Amino acid sequence: MKTSNVGVAIDAVSKRYKSAKQPALDGVTLDIRPGELLALLGPSGSGKTTLLNVLSGLESADDGRMLFGDQDVTDIPAERRSVAVVFQSSMLYPHMSLRKSIAFAPRLNKVPDAEIEQRIADITGWLHIAHLLDRRPHEVSGGERQRAAIAKALVSRPALLLMDEPFSAVDAQLRRQLRSELVKLHREFGTTTVFVTHDQEEAMAISDRVAVMRNGRLVQVDEPLELYRSPVNAWLADFVGVQPINVLPVRRSPSGDTLQTADGELTLKPEGRAFPDVLDLGVRPEHIKIIASGSASPLRVYTREVVSGQMKYTLRTDQGTEIVAIRGSDDVLDIDTPVDVAVDWRHAIAFDSTTGERLDVNLAKGTAGVS
Ligand code: ADP
Ligand code: MG
Repeated sequence: MKTSNVGVAIDAVSKRYKSAKQPALDGVTLDIRPGELLALLGPSGSGKTTLLNVLSGLESADDGRMLFGDQDVTDIPAERRSVAVVFQSSMLYPHMSLRKSIAFAPRLNKVPDAEIEQRIADITGWLHIAHLLDRRPHEVSGGERQRAAIAKALVSRPALLLMDEPFSAVDAQLRRQLRSELVKLHREFGTTTVFVTHDQEEAMAISDRVAVMRNGRLVQVDEPLELYRSPVNAWLADFVGVQPINVLPVRRSPSGDTLQTADGELTLKPEGRAFPDVLDLGVRPEHIKIIASGSASPLRVYTREVVSGQMKYTLRTDQGTEIVAIRGSDDVLDIDTPVDVAVDWRHAIAFDSTTGERLDVNLAKGTAGVS
């Protein structure tokens, strides 16, 4: 298979390792679009590596089918799938120069030397390692080794590029740089790419879409912003977001149009009125406005931190209900200041208090379904 920009269809793929009680993959169905950069995001042990290995052919699936373009690859061995994989630690030959390592596979496949040279010059130019090609892996930095591993993966013009936490062994600052370079590289080469990470920030930063996994299942597949704004459940809402989302168990107050926290101390007034009697209210810290009231509000500033030049406050009632809010740093609030809060209801999310699933309820005014 030599077509680039291939789409991938994963249909009900399951896999259980012999020793394991739970399946590592439990009926995963996912369409990856041609030329897409898809992030596969999930906590450790959620099945990301297994899905990648099943796609590459390193592992076999117990059930289900996989198609690359029109071709069913389920029973096709790894070496005939036109897939390249970049792992956390690079697979470069220790005794070879980077150039030889990178050229190894295309040479084996009888790609003409001039063509290989051209491809290497092109790719390593983009990756800023053209000047390092005569060195061996131990003579370059970790970040440069990963760049060389990406070059090695791309030089064979794979139909599908799979990356398994490729930047997790480099420090945070370099990781950010490598991320934006990967996005540029993807723009240039357009190779269909699946990028595995457990880091939601990384997934949201680089990808066209994010597929979130948990316990061997896909929880949600969406564009990053959609995932952030409309998470399907409270677990996912908390998993995506640099600051944890506030999830407040609330119930309708006797008057009917306000929500009360479980301790009865806080009353919030949604703009919409069509909400159930009991729900978990999800509001991100940036959607809570702090109003320094000086009044007898039960909420007080409990702790504060500086986050990216802004202030993050944890507010607390005497009974222990906590709300986290982000606010500008021009006017820093003292510890113990009593405050009121205003919720930006357009961005508030209602979750079922038992299942955690997002409810189709709109807490803002003027929207469909609200009386
Ligand atoms: P992730 O990459 O998301 O951390 P993995 O795909 O590596 O998750 O693992 C998914 C599940 O399968 C985990 O529960 C893990 O312990 C189990 N697992 C992974 N590889 C093996 C293996 N070779 N043998 C047995 N169990 C495995
Ligand atoms: Mg893994």
